[in-house]
Amino acid sequence: MTKASHLGSGMTSQRTRSRLAQRLKDHGIDNQKVLAAIRDTPRHIFVDEALASRAYEDTALPIGFGQTISQPYIVARMSEILITHVPNGKILEVGTGSGYQAAILAQLFPQVYSVERIAGLQRQARSRLREMDLHHVRFKHTDGSWGWEQNAPYDGIILTAAPLDVPQTLLDQLAIGGVLIAPVGGARNQILRMITRSDTGFEHQDLEPVIFVPMLSGTT
Ligand code: SAH
Repeated sequence: MTKASHLGSGMTSQRTRSRLAQRLKDHGIDNQKVLAAIRDTPRHIFVDEALASRAYEDTALPIGFGQTISQPYIVARMSEILITHVPNGKILEVGTGSGYQAAILAQLFPQVYSVERIAGLQRQARSRLREMDLHHVRFKHTDGSWGWEQNAPYDGIILTAAPLDVPQTLLDQLAIGGVLIAPVGGARNQILRMITRSDTGFEHQDLEPVIFVPMLSGTT
């Protein structure tokens, strides 16, 4: 039983999730594993109960501390980029937030590391993933602009908060052959950027305009 089970099956059922997955498919997501992860993940447990009825809309929602759970489309899009480039890779997520993106990643990759600067959010995310029996995600309370050196290099790095520019430290922790995906830019002009690393250096590709909360420094 999930926390929001009192809502009744209509709002939280497999059918509601399948509808969301179908909507993402219509918007161009076609990786079957990603769509299956969206279908299998109860997004309503990642938001406040008061917002649970909106959990399967394709929209970002507030999660407290001035932060938001990302829009399902963008979660799927970034996950699809990672799985296409580095299937079975070791992944670092910067910005755990609600833990929803981490829960999706956990269903796609054998090793997931996720860092968050707000302790309260990290605590909640950790217990939600435990509740879902996803035990192979490791969490750390830290300023993610420093990455997580101990487990580097990563095959994939995903930022879910937008820096003005991708910190060099994170690029340094990317494996050769790896891919980093991040929203980059100020509040009004962010772009989703994909950076690949080869043995000769880094290559950038700008994909589409996005809206994320800003990457901030320090911990709280
Ligand atoms: N992936 C999250 C998205 C949360 S919003 C989800 O699925 O819900 C982005 C998150 O990035 C916020 O929780 C914010 O606190 C965090 N964040 C911002 N700057 C950060 C930094 N420097 N290091 C770690 N986390 C950061």
